[in-house]
Amino acid sequence: VIELRDVCKRFPAQPPVRALHEISLRVDRGDHLAIVGPSGSGKSTLLNVLGLLDRPTSGSYLLDGTETTTLRDGARTRLRGDRIGFVFQSFHLLPHRSVVENVMLAELYGAWKRRGRRERALAALERVGLGHRAGFLPGRLSGGERQRAAIARALLGAPSLLLCDEPTGNLDSRNTEAVLDLFAELREQGLTIVIITHEQEVSERAGRRVRITDGVLVEE
Ligand code: ATP
Ligand code: MG
Repeated sequence: VIELRDVCKRFPAQPPVRALHEISLRVDRGDHLAIVGPSGSGKSTLLNVLGLLDRPTSGSYLLDGTETTTLRDGARTRLRGDRIGFVFQSFHLLPHRSVVENVMLAELYGAWKRRGRRERALAALERVGLGHRAGFLPGRLSGGERQRAAIARALLGAPSLLLCDEPTGNLDSRNTEAVLDLFAELREQGLTIVIITHEQEVSERAGRRVRITDGVLVEE
């Protein structure tokens, strides 16, 4: 799914920030990869590159066989919409919209595949075990249910890759377990999952772990 070769990312600053240094990484279909490392080490920068939200300064990034670094913005945005779902620490659910409407909002800007959005949103909620909460407002959900709703939203476009930045950072241990169980299920269905985490119980459930220190990646 993912193939990075010698990816570097520098941010212009005084002095310049070397956020990623010659990162090479291969992630196959169905892999569950955890990225760990101290604050400021480059984890989110790497996730942004993987998610086509940011371009590397140099190096190559193949996503499902497509070289992404030379694509124009429009093509990158389409590829992102087709292949990638994002999950973040804070759930970013709109409080005055129902759960199913929040899931549908994933495609607010994805006009190219809006057809059948509500049906697909309900199916995504079933997939995360929240079909019975479709009409609820987010405020009436537990923390774990909110994150599962956010995961349903990430799944709406049927991505092959789920990128998660501290997805359990706001959850207690019971809800963390529920989200990890869900990730295990999604993986069995062929989804590839990359997850940034500080929590040991989360990285232990991943099949593979890499550590970033000062922008340098080491496989563990
Ligand atoms: P945390 O665990 O705290 O979230 P992180 O590992 O995700 O940290 P990054 O956000 O990837 O760290 O940042 C890596 C380095 O790049 C840091 O030194 C950060 O200050 C720097 N950095 C990130 N984004 C920018 C930017 N847009 N401009 C300049 N420097 C940046
Ligand atoms: Mg970060």
